[in-house]
Amino acid sequence: MFERELTDLRQRHMFRKPLVIESREGARVIIDGRSLLLMCSNDYLGLSFHPALRAAAKAATDRYGCGAGASRLVSGTSALHAELEERIACFKNTEAAIVYNSGYAANTGIISAIAGPDDIILSDNLNHASIIDGCRLSRAQVAVYRHRDVNHLEDLLRKATSIRRRLIVTDGVFSMDGDIAPLPELVSLSEKYNAILMVDDAHAVGVLGERGRGTAEHFSLEDRVPIQMGTLGKALGSFGAYAAGSRDFVNFLINRSRSFVYSTALPPSVCAASIAAIDIVEREPVLKKRVWKNRDRLLSGLSRLGVSCGSSESAIIPIVIGDTEKALNTGERLFEYGIFASAIRPPTVAEGSARVRITVMATHRDDDIDIVLDALDRCKKEGFLG
Ligand code: PMP
Repeated sequence: MFERELTDLRQRHMFRKPLVIESREGARVIIDGRSLLLMCSNDYLGLSFHPALRAAAKAATDRYGCGAGASRLVSGTSALHAELEERIACFKNTEAAIVYNSGYAANTGIISAIAGPDDIILSDNLNHASIIDGCRLSRAQVAVYRHRDVNHLEDLLRKATSIRRRLIVTDGVFSMDGDIAPLPELVSLSEKYNAILMVDDAHAVGVLGERGRGTAEHFSLEDRVPIQMGTLGKALGSFGAYAAGSRDFVNFLINRSRSFVYSTALPPSVCAASIAAIDIVEREPVLKKRVWKNRDRLLSGLSRLGVSCGSSESAIIPIVIGDTEKALNTGERLFEYGIFASAIRPPTVAEGSARVRITVMATHRDDDIDIVLDALDRCKKEGFLG
């Protein structure tokens, strides 16, 4: 059975195999003994290698050991877990926060705790897989609205007024397109139709907003988004995720969210690294500025080359090729030119919209961006970009 399925995947250019990174230094990685420019990491601020995070993780391991030993409610809560949650709440300007073991665990755990068979979830068509799985797990009715189409969302909300609970859920920054959710309209609709609004800031925290607090801060709507979820494994350089909101909301999750209740807590070292990361985001806004500067440099270069980056508004810059095989070939060609930027294909993106997903980091230098542009220029001339 496995062999048959795998053969089928291979024939459809859908077979995936992770590339092994032998070592990393800043924005460079070694793969198969070759040095490549890393252009597909979500480590937007370059914090995963920051000396402060590394030192904090080492000290926490020495003090608390390698593992938490149990789920949070059994015996897995260390002083660092509590401190991290306080720091997140303070950073996000909310009453409270709860830490999850990953963004995947957070989305499945939050959504399935809030919504049940008597409820409806209104979900953007391009939401992340972990949101989709959370919707499935909840057994609620799911109404998918066209990507960022608030008129469509309102139509669906109008039809759902008699349903017990309405939950609107959206990525803040969409993971494969890099565009931003229309939060002001979503907030208005959630208030008009008495729906709960949840935003996934996986690609927004650390990058978006004056102080890097994410999508709600970007739109000055911090006090009107009741559920802000975000991850600690991308711009914050470590691992895990959080939900930030009211004290009651957090206490509700502590009691009802199965991925929180029934899973061993994050290792203390990971909590310590995340605390150090929040310190840096607050203290060194220059890192966020560098991400945006690199994005600007890449975007102006792409426009000179006549290469479209779709509707990107963030550090995620997709070059949509369309055909899966062509996108894979482009990724491989870039690899030959010393650039590591993965091709993304269905089912991660819609059929016919395979792409090379480029991300910029604070640790890229101007000449790194120029190297990428040069490689893309060559790919274009060779007919690789579609
Ligand atoms: N939400 C979004 C929008 C994501 O892009 C991701 C990860 N790619 C997740 C949630 C899941 O986060 P994690 O990797 O921490 O499980």
